[in-house]
Amino acid sequence: MPDDTTSASSEILHSTSPSLGSAARAQATVAGLLSEPLAPGLYLVATPIGNLADITLRALSVLARADVIYCEDTRHSAKLLQHYAIGTRTRPFHDHNEERESERIIELLKSDRCVAIISDAGTPLLSDPGFKLVRAAAAEGVPVIAIPGPSALLSALTTSGLPTDAFFFAGFLPAKQAARRTRLTELSHIPGSLIFYEAPHRTAETLSDMAGLLGVRQAVIARELTKLHEEIVRGSLADLATATPVDGLKGEVVIVVGPEQVQAISDEVLSERLAGVLEVMSLKDAAKALADEFGVPKSRVYGLGIKAKGARE
Ligand code: SAM
Repeated sequence: MPDDTTSASSEILHSTSPSLGSAARAQATVAGLLSEPLAPGLYLVATPIGNLADITLRALSVLARADVIYCEDTRHSAKLLQHYAIGTRTRPFHDHNEERESERIIELLKSDRCVAIISDAGTPLLSDPGFKLVRAAAAEGVPVIAIPGPSALLSALTTSGLPTDAFFFAGFLPAKQAARRTRLTELSHIPGSLIFYEAPHRTAETLSDMAGLLGVRQAVIARELTKLHEEIVRGSLADLATATPVDGLKGEVVIVVGPEQVQAISDEVLSERLAGVLEVMSLKDAAKALADEFGVPKSRVYGLGIKAKGARE
């Protein structure tokens, strides 16, 4: 960070422009943080998921004061660090060297150093490296400090319009279809919204598997969040699967799937619909057709059919 933040901020603080006033406050806050020594520990620092302005003042001050920043990709993070004039030494920390580097980092932490971890985007450890390191640091009793900020999963969930009271972050699904389907079946009865990261070229086939295995549900594709081509597309899983080009989307993608709609249709409405359908098909076929249509268990439709038959007799 520049050394002259304090004097520059006091000049701007006297400005009458409201926008410059905010900038001055922000600058003064960073300057205040920079003037204090950073307590030793492992800092998990969230960084932008696209828009470079999405970084907290505390994150900047920690990155500037840390003894070393471990980056998933040092060249990728150089852009962010240069943008904010942060000259702290960087070292690589990724899936392939996490175990080896963790030992070195724990030694640094035991000698009271300040180590920051950042990933290419968002919050470290969320489908990114760092879990083994944090577990080892906790086991050694070393302070682990979160510097919260962006994460694609929370931005996607909150913009989705789908229930936020209970949700499950499922990370990336397996790339192979058989394993992906098994995983989706495991997740299908979780009572809450489901959040997935997905590669853009696999989005169409994943949505199609979801439509087949998760039943009738609302879903959202959140693409390129915080970037120029940000897009939120809402619809049923089946509609989104049909509308997504089979050769893939461009950019980065999060899929949010709403909870099962088991209670969305009342017994009364389901029975009325069943009565109509039973005029053209057997109860067994009707139970399957309505279960698929409303995302309800076949046994529920079947039971309503038996009850109605009993009442008629
Ligand atoms: N740790 C990151 C976080 O906190 O969001 C996620 C890292 S994970 C390796 C990368 C995945 O996150 C991408 O494949 C995509 O699914 C999602 N992602 C990251 N940035 C995104 C963005 N700007 N818009 C939509 N999805 C994004």
